[in-house]
Amino acid sequence: MSNEMKIRFWGVRGSYPTPGAGTVKYGGNTPSVEVQAGNRTIILDAGTGIIPLGRELARTKRAGELLLLFSHLHHDHTQGFPFFVPAYIPNAKLHIYGPDGTHESLKNVLEHNQSSETFPVSLRDMSSSKDIQSVRESQVIVWDEDGVRVAESASGASDEAVIIRIHKSYAHPGGVFVYRVTWHGKSVVYATDTEGYVGTDKRLVKFAKDADVLIHDAQYLDEHYWGQLEGLPSTQGYGHSTVTMACEVAASASTGQLVLFHHDPTYTDNMLAGMEVKAKNLFTESVAAYEGLEIVLQEANVSVQLQTPAIHGREVKYAQNG
Ligand SMILES: [Zn+2]
Ligand SMILES: [Zn+2]
Repeated sequence: MSNEMKIRFWGVRGSYPTPGAGTVKYGGNTPSVEVQAGNRTIILDAGTGIIPLGRELARTKRAGELLLLFSHLHHDHTQGFPFFVPAYIPNAKLHIYGPDGTHESLKNVLEHNQSSETFPVSLRDMSSSKDIQSVRESQVIVWDEDGVRVAESASGASDEAVIIRIHKSYAHPGGVFVYRVTWHGKSVVYATDTEGYVGTDKRLVKFAKDADVLIHDAQYLDEHYWGQLEGLPSTQGYGHSTVTMACEVAASASTGQLVLFHHDPTYTDNMLAGMEVKAKNLFTESVAAYEGLEIVLQEANVSVQLQTPAIHGREVKYAQNG
């Protein structure tokens, strides 16, 4: 088994997909992130980025058993699922975990997303086997030699186990789950769709403490958030963060690599490049997520390598600073 932990970004855009000339560099797909821990694949959210990821998993024969975690059930985090190729593979086993919706269970929300009124194929008619479970903040998801399970604690898990802890944030309409995926002592925290607090989100800081990688919502320029951009209202209370808020959490939690995530759909590549520069001034190890970004955590050391594989047949160059 490979001892590397790899994080690949397939969809990094918030709210709705944004194809077009102005978003070629960072990409227009909505959130989906692949975490590979040895030969196990965990997928964070099913925005449209999960569509090319699904094709890649099928092509490379890695669709046997997959764990898909939903941060929450807003459209931009679920809309790619009906087009996820492994869900149609009869031998594939999908573990689909996440929070319940405000009024309905996780399973009901996914079924409604594919009701005959809105989509031609129902959830049940997708041929893979599906283990759909609502999980709670107090629970732990364990994936070891015995398979994937939801437990009340991680005690008894083997050294090979992938352990996933859950933090419920209330800083987004309806609430959102933040996940911490740990394997072989390395960890990545996925904190999308969350708004920072004055003086930083202390509960989140505690949860993300010393993580090797922090993927954090950074939808807005500070000026936009505070309503200082002409013609644009303040976005305070919308449930998303600024670059400064993301950097504050990373610095307070002493994390390694910070990845700015859930880019505003109206922002162009040039604006995102500017946000990345600003972030590096506040927290050196910052990068703005782009489709194709790959972060490798090595077994021997936890230094972060940023790689630039050609995904979607194009190569995006990124030179690491610091
Ligand atoms: Zn979102
Ligand atoms: Zn949301």
